Amino acid sequence: MESAVRIDSRFPQVGTTIFTVMSALAAEVGAVNLSQGFPDFQAEPVLFDALHRHMLAGHNQYAPMAGMPALRQAIVDKVASLYGTRFDVEREVTVTAGATQALFTAIAAFVRPGDEVIVFNPVYDSYAPAIETVGGTVVHAHLRFPDYAPDWSEVAALVTPRTRMIVVNSPHNPTGSLLSAVDLEKLAEIVRGTDIVVLSDEVYEHIVFDGAQHESLCAHPELAARSLVVSSFGKTYHITGWKIGYIVGPQALMAEFRKVHQFNVFTVHAPSQLALADYMQDAARHAALAGFYEQKRDCFLDLMAGTPFEWLPCRGTYFQLARYGHFSDLPDRAFAEWLAREVGVAVIPLSAFNHDGRDERVVRFCFAKREETLAEAAHRLKRAL
Ligand code: PMP
Ligand code: GLN
Repeated sequence: MESAVRIDSRFPQVGTTIFTVMSALAAEVGAVNLSQGFPDFQAEPVLFDALHRHMLAGHNQYAPMAGMPALRQAIVDKVASLYGTRFDVEREVTVTAGATQALFTAIAAFVRPGDEVIVFNPVYDSYAPAIETVGGTVVHAHLRFPDYAPDWSEVAALVTPRTRMIVVNSPHNPTGSLLSAVDLEKLAEIVRGTDIVVLSDEVYEHIVFDGAQHESLCAHPELAARSLVVSSFGKTYHITGWKIGYIVGPQALMAEFRKVHQFNVFTVHAPSQLALADYMQDAARHAALAGFYEQKRDCFLDLMAGTPFEWLPCRGTYFQLARYGHFSDLPDRAFAEWLAREVGVAVIPLSAFNHDGRDERVVRFCFAKREETLAEAAHRLKRAL
């Protein structure tokens, strides 16, 4: 249908997310989809049984605005046991429609027109559009290729009186890098004495490898006092389609967050929250995740031995970066399209995460897949490359 109005697009530069584009291309051409980050295996049936049970028991009406008390309690207990900070169940935790909504709502609650928000490039795709939607200015610090560590002197130089927020993400999508305890100290030094809010995207908190520890901002008392920390059950329990996550932080920050949240989604799917509260009772489930995905990463790399890619370090998340510039001159988007169409394996071109489109001839593979899926991808790559 023809639109009756002339639209002056608010976001003329924004197209469809690269994850949607690559998953659609994979489906169209029958490629093994190692692009968008989601598991191709099932969660445990006991989680689905719990969901069904809660629906049949009649828990199908609005949950409280902040989330079901049982789930908030389970979250607070988990955070306390892992990171040593006990948030208040009533005032300091909110259940959200995935991490995406938590991030968007937090940005909307704190960033005003003209405020600056520092993000680290390569940057997860939802941060900048959220900042710009509310009139903020995105300021880019850089995680530098190939180790993707923050340069805190650069960050310090980017802080101005207009800086309202810094967004950090560890374990980091797409690079698989981790913030260290030293990084958190440097960040704390930079924000000390300011009113800068830190928004910490920790959706891969349970997926860290090789004996490393996740350095949650919840575990750093000075930073925790000015931070909102976000996580996602989609990543932790293999249910990205449920779109349930949470945010924790000091009550004054959470009160502001909820002012927006209540008019944004108001509340989140009730029976799923109860099922998750039951499922969280067994801490072994999230504790097992690091070993589970470390084994997948190692299996993926073993299967891929013999392909010409050069693999970059992957210290957490379920993404593995690879360089290909030594065997193809194609820019990364063209390379990813060629790989999907001609080789039958879909990946994400890393320039999609670079605000300036910088292309280091790197692509991202998602290894949250069954071994047979990874083996089929490896087979196709070895046959063609
Ligand atoms: N942050 C990062 C770094 C992510 O990788 C993702 C998604 N995979 C999200 C946020 C969004 O999580 P959710 O699906 O729970 O909205
Ligand atoms: N976070 C997922 C990824 O990085 C994708 C989520 C989405 O499609 N928006 O692949």
